Amino acid sequence: MTVQARARRPAPVLDLRDVTKVYGTGETAVHALQGVTLTVERGDFVAIMGASGSGKSTLMNIIGCLDAPNAGRYLLDGIDVAGLDERSLAILRNRRIGFVFQSFNLIPRMSAQANVELPLAYGGIKGADRRRRALAALREVGLADRTRHEPNELSGGQQQRVAVARALVTAPALLLADEPTGALDSGSTADVLGVFDRLALAGRTIIVITHEDDVAAHAKRVVRLVDGRIVEDVRRAPVTGPPPNVSWTTEGAR
Ligand code: ADP
Ligand code: MG
Repeated sequence: MTVQARARRPAPVLDLRDVTKVYGTGETAVHALQGVTLTVERGDFVAIMGASGSGKSTLMNIIGCLDAPNAGRYLLDGIDVAGLDERSLAILRNRRIGFVFQSFNLIPRMSAQANVELPLAYGGIKGADRRRRALAALREVGLADRTRHEPNELSGGQQQRVAVARALVTAPALLLADEPTGALDSGSTADVLGVFDRLALAGRTIIVITHEDDVAAHAKRVVRLVDGRIVEDVRRAPVTGPPPNVSWTTEGAR
């Protein structure tokens, strides 16, 4: 790659350098992350795997700007997160990250449409524009015919697809999912994974935290944590989508 091409290359969505996280101090200190370096390019679909206690949630909280590392550097979409105050962080989270949780976290007695509109409402987007964008997101997850349904009128898989639509509606740089199929039966799991596959094909950037091999099998790259360290970083499929003519790397793979 020429120097010029490198200069034009957009910042990675995620750029973590030697990130550490320690809970507590002294003898009882827990070293939850012990120097994690991870770069994720636009259009990648990464599964982060590891046994219970390996540091997945800690890493997710740092990636999601819900917690700060003790040391190391983290750039989200080219922005150094450490320099931001609470208010700027909240805006960054709202605009750049779409969260999906194991438990869906939909608001009961609110239609699918209204649930998906919520992040736009927080972002100050009004009326027809908000409705149009929410409908487009619901269409993207295959739920255009369920917009008026409330969560308790939908299957688990459909509820999680509404949650994915809600995560996508702000056009975030990153879709960040924590055990998104952990509460679903196999049929609904397949349903939600099908949506992730389509989003990945469309060039969305996705990070899924999971301990399930069948979920990770859908990802283009699998990163494995043991005791707060990346011990494996395997690419299974190339990064899709824009920008063209930019090569992907397996930086960190060993
Ligand atoms: P995982 O999500 O992979 O199960 P976690 O990131 O939750 O792992 O935890 C990593 C390590 O940090 C574990 O040893 C856990 O007990 C510890 N830990 C997590 N959160 C806290 C906390 N708030 N206070 C103290 N220790 C914590
Ligand atoms: Mg966890």
